[in-house]
Amino acid sequence: MALTGMQIYKNLPKTNCKDCGLPTCMAFAMQVAAKQRALTDCPHLSDEAQESLSEASAPPMKLVKIGPDGKQFEFGQETVMFRHEEKFHRHCGIAVRIPAGLSDREAEELVERINGSEFVRVGSTLKVAFSAVEIELDDPAGRAKLVASKSKLPLILIGSDPDKMKAAAEAVSSENPLLYRAEASNLEAMAEVAASVKAPLAVSGANLEELAELTGQAKDKGVSEIVLAFGGRDLAEIIRSLTIARRAALKKQFRVFGYPAMVEVDSETPESETVFAGIFAAKYAGIVLINGQEPWELLPIMVTVQDIYTDPQVPNIVEAKLYEIGNTNENSPVIFTTNFSLTYFSVEGEVERSKVPSYICVVDTEGLGVLNAYAGDKISAEKVVKTLQAQKVAEKVKHRKLIIPGLLPIFRAEIEDTSEWKEVIIGPEKAREIPAFLNKYWT
Ligand code: SF4
Repeated sequence: MALTGMQIYKNLPKTNCKDCGLPTCMAFAMQVAAKQRALTDCPHLSDEAQESLSEASAPPMKLVKIGPDGKQFEFGQETVMFRHEEKFHRHCGIAVRIPAGLSDREAEELVERINGSEFVRVGSTLKVAFSAVEIELDDPAGRAKLVASKSKLPLILIGSDPDKMKAAAEAVSSENPLLYRAEASNLEAMAEVAASVKAPLAVSGANLEELAELTGQAKDKGVSEIVLAFGGRDLAEIIRSLTIARRAALKKQFRVFGYPAMVEVDSETPESETVFAGIFAAKYAGIVLINGQEPWELLPIMVTVQDIYTDPQVPNIVEAKLYEIGNTNENSPVIFTTNFSLTYFSVEGEVERSKVPSYICVVDTEGLGVLNAYAGDKISAEKVVKTLQAQKVAEKVKHRKLIIPGLLPIFRAEIEDTSEWKEVIIGPEKAREIPAFLNKYWT
């Protein structure tokens, strides 16, 4: 039976030292009781208290760590079914397969490509999370070592032969790779390998009943880090299984499903693989294993993950200040926009693309985009003028021309009438039109 906050509190040190990130031991106890914190987040808990509380107060989904210190991928310990209930805590990671059929040279080149698959979007760097290497060849240890030596990312070892998996896992045990995957036919041997090298193990079943049985067996064999593995061609069935497993873990404390999940995406075309991977990332895969490696295949999945895993309780904003893009001078254009990060980074990216060094004056609109801010009374001509004054923009340039968003032409007359910015230019409505606009009107 779940413990109450008071039962947990009685076992805490009661020093209110704040090392857990919360102001009091009572606050910490309440969060542990609500399954939003793990007992291990208190570094001062005695062994006796830990023992007496841990089983009953364990989070409904275990945190699983893959990879060595310094480049670990953590997932699991999720607390809600729907993002709007609180937030999704840990990003879904993309794993790119390195097929066994590649030569060593080709495998190295693919690892380099995976290492370099990075994209900057809305101020964040989006990356692939894993090199997933198939080891079913004559020298599994050699291939695992080769990829480990080149990869900047944690590893997934893909294979079904326990002997080959043992050789590969022992060769790169310091990398703490995920062993993918055990099923009914090889569970016992694969669990022994995982337990002996202390590596996490992905377990799959023919159906949910079998999966529950196999995860229980893997745990009994000494595997503590387990990942629920799903796959196949039936998209609806996979989503149904992911949803049932997560609901059983979070709502019913069904411990054998209390692990994060992954999906090996299997589809007919690269295009559908990308779409399916995005869908699985939304519900509820912590890892998607794909074959795609091209930017057009990876980026849509990364964008989906980035959008879903933002914290809905935290406004998506940038600091409202004057940004200098490029080598600005006293003749550079001045543009204003809002502090909604998607708006700001769209404008910033297009200004960079224009190659016209510019000032961007960011107005605090409480994280709303241009039209929403106007409709919600979060931006006005008066506020824009005050922001320009507060940011001392007039001291940076000798002209008094201000480019305003094309969606707010109504501000022009008031800004010209009430401020020193006597030439207000109505800019484009869409960020992507900024380069052509600047190059046409600002030369
Ligand atoms: Fe209390 Fe432990 Fe948090 Fe310190 S770290 S405030 S002792 S719960």
